Amino acid sequence: MLNVKNKVIVITGASSGIGEATAKLLAEYGAKVVLGARRTEKLKKIVEEIHNQGGTAEFKAIDVTDREDVKAFFEFAKDKFGRVDVIFNNAGVMPLSPMNALKVEEWDNMVNVNIRGVLNGIAAGLPIMEAQGGGQIINTASIGAHVVGPTAAVYCATKYAVWAISEGLRQESQNVRVTTISPGVVDTELGSDITDESSKGLLKEFRKTALSSEAIARAVLYAVSQPDDVDVNEVIVRPISQVM
Ligand code: NDP
Repeated sequence: MLNVKNKVIVITGASSGIGEATAKLLAEYGAKVVLGARRTEKLKKIVEEIHNQGGTAEFKAIDVTDREDVKAFFEFAKDKFGRVDVIFNNAGVMPLSPMNALKVEEWDNMVNVNIRGVLNGIAAGLPIMEAQGGGQIINTASIGAHVVGPTAAVYCATKYAVWAISEGLRQESQNVRVTTISPGVVDTELGSDITDESSKGLLKEFRKTALSSEAIARAVLYAVSQPDDVDVNEVIVRPISQVM
């Protein structure tokens, strides 16, 4: 029996890509999913699709860089379903560029969404989990938490940070399972915010071989579905031919 049915699972970055695919898959396995992101039209449509398949889902508009917003999102989930079993801190942005392009506002945005967003999720969710005696926090890092490449210095720095935060939290946790999901190249909207022309071309080349979001959703399902005393610490999922 998979340990998924009826779990209340809160997902940030659920309006597209990996978050969307994970919400749909977990709902298929009987989880009650709560979707958050900024684009509510997309969230509404995904939730309707889940309902049409007989699943249970709710959504709320959130900006993960706003601590109060994230707190309200978790309270919303708790009000709807009584508890929060799993947090999937997944929202992220990747405006790649070489350092000497000095896209300092894009650097700030990556730090705010990719690092502060995850910290806001932990700050809002951890007290709920500690009070209820357990839960699971899953953070989306990246293969960029293990290797650095040109144009990706700041992005990778944010993902190294996510990896470090997850690992530190794991070491401190007695009742809360902590999992890092590190995808390789996945075909999603990530990078649509790139403004540096050379980086756009590089990403196109990189994406010639890419996994679908469902491959990462299955990794999340695997981590969630383990017995309560089993903590899957990290899952790295790459296309078979991806070298770095
Ligand atoms: P998408 O661009 O499809 O999804 C990103 C999600 O993050 C969207 O739902 C977006 O929603 C949300 N988001 C962005 N900014 C904010 C914000 N300020 N507040 C709330 N939500 C926000 O890309 P992916 O599915 O690929 O990305 C998911 C995660 O996977 C990211 O953390 C990414 O870094 C990571 N990853 C992806 C890889 C890939 O190759 N695709 C590889 C390795 C890691 P909205 O715009 O509606 O707010």
